[in-house]
Amino acid sequence: MVVIMSPRSTGQHVNHVVQLLGDMGANAWVINGRESKVVEALEVNGEVDVARLEAAPMVDRVLTSPDPLLASGRQPEDRTKEVPLGSVASIGSKKLGVIAGPCAVESKNQILDVAAAVKEAGAVALRGGAFKPRTSPYTFQGHGEAGLELLALAREETGLAIVTEVMRCEHVELVARYADVLQVGSRNMSHFHLLSEVGRQNKPVLLKRGWSATLDEFLLAAEYVMVEGNHKVILCERGIRTHEKYVRNTLALAVVPEIKRLSTLPIIVDPSHGTGQRHLVTPMSKAAIACGADGLIVEVHPTPRKAWSDGSQSLAPDQFQQLMAELEPIAMACGRGV
Ligand code: PEP
Ligand code: MN
Repeated sequence: MVVIMSPRSTGQHVNHVVQLLGDMGANAWVINGRESKVVEALEVNGEVDVARLEAAPMVDRVLTSPDPLLASGRQPEDRTKEVPLGSVASIGSKKLGVIAGPCAVESKNQILDVAAAVKEAGAVALRGGAFKPRTSPYTFQGHGEAGLELLALAREETGLAIVTEVMRCEHVELVARYADVLQVGSRNMSHFHLLSEVGRQNKPVLLKRGWSATLDEFLLAAEYVMVEGNHKVILCERGIRTHEKYVRNTLALAVVPEIKRLSTLPIIVDPSHGTGQRHLVTPMSKAAIACGADGLIVEVHPTPRKAWSDGSQSLAPDQFQQLMAELEPIAMACGRGV
């Protein structure tokens, strides 16, 4: 159970609630977030009288669900939040937001070529890893700050917003200096210190679902960012690990409508990591838009067979252009634009 105190409440009001809960046989403790004062209570001896708590001075709300979403929870009348991508675009509006680019920034020519191509095809942002979370330590780990500089150059040339991953707390400020959107990858969805650190930045956060995370864990990870004051969170479904072998991950698209029911955060889908197979990217992109996703993040490489990472799931520029064209009628049928 969680008691949310009014922002105007004083220590005395909070102590009174703790005392009241104690009198009702509950164990209670105070959690002071940056934006909220919350009393969490565990009912140990019988039931707590919720109406009595609600009537206490400066109590805003009493939530009895086990893991309430205080920052992102959706009431039936709420709309999806619109999160800006740099100064030119957003995710969560009627218009779909498609982010595209290579798995990793490899060279100046590679990133500038692909940036121009995805811009031309209608992408609103450029993706590209400068710090790469790789399964093997013997594979390309990214160019680091030099990669960030190339992304900044691509933004200068195209006007596209830059989405790139941050893996370490110590790198958050560095990456935030270059990026328009800070990506927290699947492997770091439960890195709570990193979530808090990006929550203290004034940049949107693209939070990818951990491949073994439940939907509740995913949504609570977003709360870690938001409780620090950064409400600009974009969720991303990127597939979960199952026993299947014909795909790299199983793209769990049912979370899209479920997130629309539970959360006000926009959700996009990654059909590249979500399948690991180039020929599945376009069909699953269409399915994602049809079930209500607010956008996509797609891997595109100038020459996929030469890519330093994830070439087998990357589209060539002409294939990406074709995908964007094929999305249009689906978006329109769903009352949206591309
Ligand atoms: C990525 O998008 O570059 C990436 C590594 O994806 P994920 O974190 O979903 O594996
Ligand atoms: Mn990749």
